[in-house]
Amino acid sequence: MKRALVTAGASGIGFAMGEAFAQAGYEVWVTDVDDAALARCPDAWTARRVDSSDDGQMRALFDEISVAGGLDVVCANAGVAGPTAHVEDVAWDDWKTCVDVTLGGAFLCAKYAAPMMKAAGQGAIVLTSSTAGVFGYPNRAPYSAAKWGVIGLMKTLAMELGPFGIRANAICPGAVEGPRMEGVLEREAAAKGMTRDAVYEGYASGTSLRTFVTAEDIANMAVFLASNGAQRVSGQVISVDGHTENPDPKP
Ligand code: NAD
Repeated sequence: MKRALVTAGASGIGFAMGEAFAQAGYEVWVTDVDDAALARCPDAWTARRVDSSDDGQMRALFDEISVAGGLDVVCANAGVAGPTAHVEDVAWDDWKTCVDVTLGGAFLCAKYAAPMMKAAGQGAIVLTSSTAGVFGYPNRAPYSAAKWGVIGLMKTLAMELGPFGIRANAICPGAVEGPRMEGVLEREAAAKGMTRDAVYEGYASGTSLRTFVTAEDIANMAVFLASNGAQRVSGQVISVDGHTENPDPKP
């Protein structure tokens, strides 16, 4: 049975990825820092409390996976939204937390998955970026910078690891319906003196399909990118965002 690891997999997009990989016949491993959410994961999954930005915890996780027989797919999905503020008001510690989890966590996935996948002569790395990794996002400097970094990391992984049969691709979700986006909407509304609904409409109207997306939309793309159907797809940035041309031009 193929094995897939999803970081930040106990809720949101990561949980949907876990469900989609399980449905596709994979053995699913997930990590998270939320104990209650981890406890709610299906019994069939291997769920571990691991902070994606902690090198020691990530190394121990991959050691355990190696003993269990290795890894076919890793979804480097952990990311935190970071502060919503003008750049001069972003605290250095908030910058570091956002970049450490969002970009550092993806780096640690690649660092520890690569030797296992090289030994197996195959593997798929799916990194969760964002429309914030394609556009600038006013008031979201750390998050946008980290998500652009995820794409740079992915491009490099695809070049370095391709000769070993390992593929790397990034998914850029648009605004996903759910609790995380509700928090973002409320913080942006407060920062801009707008209502939550007006901010919501701003996001939706920035897409050609006039829509938010769902966690399942992202999960389906992750399973496809890991599958044989995508065996010659690597180094790509795939947006699953209702076609976002202009996410939020108003600072
Ligand atoms: P979420 O905020 O719902 O969080 C998912 C999980 O991440 C939570 O269970 C949380 O406990 C866990 N987590 C937080 N910090 C962690 C850490 N240091 N280590 C391990 N787990 C941690 O997130 P989501 O909306 O499911 O987003 C998942 C990914 O998709 C993130 O990388 C996010 O940046 C990206 N993304 C989300 C959206 C969106 O609209 N929700 C849009 C674009 C990109």
